[in-house]
Amino acid sequence: MSKYTKKQVSELVEGRANWETVHRMLSMPKDAERFEMYLEVLQDKVSFDAKIILPLGPHLYVVQTKNKHWVTMCDCGHDFGDYKENWKLNAAVFVRDTEEALAEVYPTLMAPDPQWQVYREFYCPSCGIMHDVEAPTPWYPVMHDFEPDIETFYKDWVHLPVPEKA
Ligand code: ZN
Repeated sequence: MSKYTKKQVSELVEGRANWETVHRMLSMPKDAERFEMYLEVLQDKVSFDAKIILPLGPHLYVVQTKNKHWVTMCDCGHDFGDYKENWKLNAAVFVRDTEEALAEVYPTLMAPDPQWQVYREFYCPSCGIMHDVEAPTPWYPVMHDFEPDIETFYKDWVHLPVPEKA
């Protein structure tokens, strides 16, 4: 398997490939070097001091703070709380649950019936960037879709020391 250079990883992250592909290629690697390079590239892009442990989305990360707490953090440094808790509950949420609001994101006549499906958009309350979208039935609870087992990932997959945790 060919190795990635930091430049190649950087180009991937800069958006030549879509996020899903990048995430699949880089966040579940078998070799430590590639993963470390990925983290370096991401760390270069953000302005906060906390150390990135794992990316959750194009602008969202699990990070280790100065006090060794693991929290979910936005590009802008906004702290969404403990990484085991659902960051979405601390996000700004816009729910599209009317025909008018759904029509704004769907082509004419393609929008779902808001009695059966709504759109929930999750934004950073500090910088306003959108982190995720759900399209559940209206009564479905807010989803917690990604609960990474970071310890196992570091130990068994990339064979790196697990970052310290308070
Ligand atoms: Zn933000």
